[in-house]
Amino acid sequence: MAQPPPDVEGDDCLPAYRHLFCPDLLRDKVAFITGGGSGIGFRIAEIFMRHGCHTVIASRSLPRVLTAARKLAGATGRRCLPLSMDVRAPPAVMAAVDQALKEFGRIDILINCESVLSEAPAAPAVSHSAGAAGNFLCPAGALSFNAFKTVMDIDTSGTFNVSRVLYEKFFRDHGGVIVNITATLGNRGQALQVHAGSAKAAVDAMTRHLAVEWGPQNIRVNSLAPGPISGTEGLRRLGGPQASLSTKVTASPLQRLGNKTEIAHSVLYLASPLASYVTGAVLVADGGAWLTFPNGVKGLADFASFSAKL
Ligand code: NAP
Repeated sequence: MAQPPPDVEGDDCLPAYRHLFCPDLLRDKVAFITGGGSGIGFRIAEIFMRHGCHTVIASRSLPRVLTAARKLAGATGRRCLPLSMDVRAPPAVMAAVDQALKEFGRIDILINCESVLSEAPAAPAVSHSAGAAGNFLCPAGALSFNAFKTVMDIDTSGTFNVSRVLYEKFFRDHGGVIVNITATLGNRGQALQVHAGSAKAAVDAMTRHLAVEWGPQNIRVNSLAPGPISGTEGLRRLGGPQASLSTKVTASPLQRLGNKTEIAHSVLYLASPLASYVTGAVLVADGGAWLTFPNGVKGLADFASFSAKL
């Protein structure tokens, strides 16, 4: 069985990289990556660039994407355009896509990787306000209306907004590839995750709808659903108590966390010509975790005792 590729914890480039696919796989393609300034999105940008791609990384915080773009271009020698944009604001998305097209003249790939994690409270908590909304652990009965709406706005509407703008401005006439980063939370109705599970399940449905409608324009649309991934904000926020997380992880089929490079490799496959006949699919890259992760009333009880100790 293959060993996982090496990775680093923070939002830094890999000190060394061994190509498994051809280094020219995405030569001179351009990828637009929402949430590309951190975590999984950052590593996707790096791995794409190591395969010859130029990237646009877009999120709300300009300092975050500026810093990331400097690191990415320095490590790979490819161009990276950092843009500030909120996926909830269609005019801002249109302006960002216009700027990217002005800079590169084309966009071949869209990766929808934004999520609300960076707005979440530092520890799992019940959220009652939009300001604190994010991907946090929360029983459905205690979830504020605003918190649920904010997660849907960013994850689901945001994915639609960016896809729709790129379709209109480039993909409709030139074809393209979309990969939506989702999750497996909705597959079994994971306890404490009705907000993120619903938002990501809606994106998986959107993947299939858009694959059907846009296939004739040579646009492929797929989802990639990661499991628990080390060195990410997602895991830091949602992992829960360390002991409980490691018990769950070692009980899963591959008995370990995934890393960001492994997710980037799966996304690279979907975005590349290797997947030329793949559309409307959800590729799960989670070491089999969703099949075995504990779920149900025990999760609610663990959450109550964990929250009480905070
Ligand atoms: P992350 O580092 O927090 O990345 C999320 C990114 O989204 C940030 O760069 C953030 O940048 C951006 N963002 C948030 N709100 C935005 C908005 N309104 N408009 C534009 N950009 C926005 O999280 P991650 O853990 O790497 O997760 C990346 C993706 O993988 C997410 O879709 C997540 O749901 C999915 N996922 C992760 C895991 C995991 O274990 N980490 C597991 C399953 C699925 P700004 O703050 O600058 O906007």
